[in-house]
Amino acid sequence: MNLDNLYQEVILDHYKNPLNKTLSKHFDVQVHHINPSCGDEITLNLTLDGQTIKEITWDGVGCSISQASVSIASDLLMGKSLSEVESISEQFVELMQSKGKKTGDEAVLEDAVALAGVSQYPARIKCALLGWMAIKDATLQAVEKR
Ligand code: ZN
Repeated sequence: MNLDNLYQEVILDHYKNPLNKTLSKHFDVQVHHINPSCGDEITLNLTLDGQTIKEITWDGVGCSISQASVSIASDLLMGKSLSEVESISEQFVELMQSKGKKTGDEAVLEDAVALAGVSQYPARIKCALLGWMAIKDATLQAVEKR
């Protein structure tokens, strides 16, 4: 099995068995983000505990890339400190802007490296970034709120 197939499988697995896809009743901030160019939509609840993201839950509809990406991001960023979240998210954005030239650091990005191929398709980059932007937005709002 080559890397592309393996990556496709990671994306499909997150799409079919999404992580944290049950909106929690208790949260600091709720955000709703849409990607009109593809029809992707997510609602995301986030709770902070001090300088750490305590919980990310979400619900959404859309293409496999958008839904897999938010599943991956919620799993990867939950439990991380705000500074870790910032640096991991920056690496992911750089990967998405790499036009296929970067493969991503699996030690940092874990399953998110499976989305590396998306960077070759400008129309799909917004799909992959939707969940990450929602988490960033919710985190900033949660920090401001206290
Ligand atoms: Zn999409």
